[in-house]
Amino acid sequence: MNSNPKKPCWICGNPSDSREHKFKKSDITRRYGKGSFENVGGMLHSKDGRPRPVQGPKSNILSYHPVICSHCNNNRSQPWDNAYKIFERWVFDNSDLIYAKRFAPLEFVYGEDAWWCQSLNLFKYFVKAFGCRLASAETSVPDDLVDLLDKEYFLTKLRICFSINRVSYTFPEYFESFLGIGNLYQVNSRSQGTMERYTWCINVSWLRIWFFYAHEIPSCVGASWVADSSCLYFGEFDAPSLEEHDQLVKDAEQNGTHEQVVNLKKMRKTLWG
Ligand SMILES: [Zn+2]
Repeated sequence: MNSNPKKPCWICGNPSDSREHKFKKSDITRRYGKGSFENVGGMLHSKDGRPRPVQGPKSNILSYHPVICSHCNNNRSQPWDNAYKIFERWVFDNSDLIYAKRFAPLEFVYGEDAWWCQSLNLFKYFVKAFGCRLASAETSVPDDLVDLLDKEYFLTKLRICFSINRVSYTFPEYFESFLGIGNLYQVNSRSQGTMERYTWCINVSWLRIWFFYAHEIPSCVGASWVADSSCLYFGEFDAPSLEEHDQLVKDAEQNGTHEQVVNLKKMRKTLWG
């Protein structure tokens, strides 16, 4: 008897036999470096005033336990993965422009003829990433997300935002290789109990991609996007907290260069005195 039956693929329901990477291979190969994966992981927290860990599967650090089948992971999602690869390359090749203007027209990213179709693919890539994150935390993926993968027009409670981390941007030598997955939060309500309401984020160098499911968008994190606009408007966020900043200094002292330590300490002084 198989004591560890394969989970159904959250997209199609067939047995899961494929590990989805937490980051695209292109992100990893371009950025692999010191400290890159320190932030990988993130357990599901239930946030109803008292965050508490619910599930933290000890998966291979760079990929999830299978929550998806190989057909969905390799064939079906190929156009979504490709759209992300193009997006990621364009964003980091044009980071000065984005930093200066705070927007990215998708026509520039994908070309005049392809942007509409490709922006749908890009959104579906984010749905896949988010769905795999939920499924890996033993959380069922909301129906609207599964359904929209077949559609051109849809309604969904998932909204994506894009933010610039100004600290990471200012210190490219230190953060170029940074990849991180934020904690997945389930945001419950005291009056209504457990809810299908989540926040999550992915960090790639200075870019933070936010996922808000049935959750209000905080101010300044950028305009929400559901593949309904031809332009992405970036928000920004400043520094990490003082505690996080001290950790950055510690990390730099261990793994970074003297210059990075000096810069981070200088910045700490400027921000917190
Ligand atoms: Zn499947």
